[in-house]
Amino acid sequence: MNIYLDNAATTPIDEEVYEAMIPVLKEDFGNPSSTHSYGRKIKSYIERARKNVAKHLNCSTGEIFFTSGGTEADNMAIRCAVRDLGVKHIITSKIEHHAVGHTVKKLVKKRKVDVSFVRINKKGHIDLSHLDELLMKNPNSLVSLMHANNEIGNLLPLEDVSLICKKHSAFFHSDTVQTIGHYDFDMKQMNEIHFMACSAHKFHGPKGVGFLYVNKNININPLIHGGSQERNMRGGTENVYGIVGLSKAMDVSLNKLIKHRKHIVNLKKHMLYRLNKSIPGVSFNGDCENLSASLYTLLSVSLPPVEIASMILFNMDIMGVACSGGSACTSGANIGSHVLENLKTPIDRPTIRFSFSKMNTIQEIDFAVDSLVKLYSRFEAKQNIISV
Ligand code: PLP
Repeated sequence: MNIYLDNAATTPIDEEVYEAMIPVLKEDFGNPSSTHSYGRKIKSYIERARKNVAKHLNCSTGEIFFTSGGTEADNMAIRCAVRDLGVKHIITSKIEHHAVGHTVKKLVKKRKVDVSFVRINKKGHIDLSHLDELLMKNPNSLVSLMHANNEIGNLLPLEDVSLICKKHSAFFHSDTVQTIGHYDFDMKQMNEIHFMACSAHKFHGPKGVGFLYVNKNININPLIHGGSQERNMRGGTENVYGIVGLSKAMDVSLNKLIKHRKHIVNLKKHMLYRLNKSIPGVSFNGDCENLSASLYTLLSVSLPPVEIASMILFNMDIMGVACSGGSACTSGANIGSHVLENLKTPIDRPTIRFSFSKMNTIQEIDFAVDSLVKLYSRFEAKQNIISV
């Protein structure tokens, strides 16, 4: 059995998405900047996709800029806000994705901005009164806080944060990479958010494509210079098949959102129940058990200490279960997770991040839990032999 439970890292491409991309890969090969019929035809794919994305977010087409993915979108928002909007101070948290964390660090190092880190509570939620205090001291800041944490799944109350930002005339950027395609967004209602980042491969679309939402009241200049693509905002021939795939992936995900969400919530609840029952001492990182305050597609499991902790993921993989030990961006490299470190998770407790999609089944969850239980009893037996 091969089971994929690492959907926060990336998701399999949906069949319908793949089908939608084929004509652009096979026949319609023109360059969207060409003025002849080939160019005009391929350009119309991009503008149709932009219209469709804008419809799903209830925003205007002029607010969507296609990028190479979430990392570029985060970089564009933060770097352009500092360069073009007079931002001298950034407020963020220590548990952001590296696309935000490392970008802010670089800007601080180059002395372009100062940074303040908003406190997080024991469960990993942002302390909103501390955010208010920080903004009181530093109005006109850029606030960059992610909507859902990719390692522990905690959700940020976007509207509350946007209202606090508005009170202090601050700009608000949110890394929504883990939530666009999984939640409904209505940007006409949430028009105090200035920037949002999206990545197609997190919701059954292709890799290497995403977009940045930029509120129509914000005026920034391009981050990537070159041709006049994306209405002069991002040079470079467009990734048209990616853009078409992104647009189709939004249709497929959002048109049946309620049905998919119900199924995935059941998977998460089932895994919570089974793990609580079968592994004494198991707990959950962040606020994973609180279904209204955490991403329904993710469960970060904190396991009781065992001596051979580093072997857990490896053995799960051998048993046919693909999951992750933290963020996909750091797994593989032997560095600990900055998120778990800032949450003060005891280092002797191994973490497994399971993340689900509509394509997973209850049987797969059972198999994953059974595999983990088997592995644990094997490790414990070994540990007993070692300590005798
Ligand atoms: N932000 C978050 C929260 C993510 O989970 C990821 C991907 O893991 C990214 C940004 C980067 O997105 P991309 O892979 O499209 O560059």
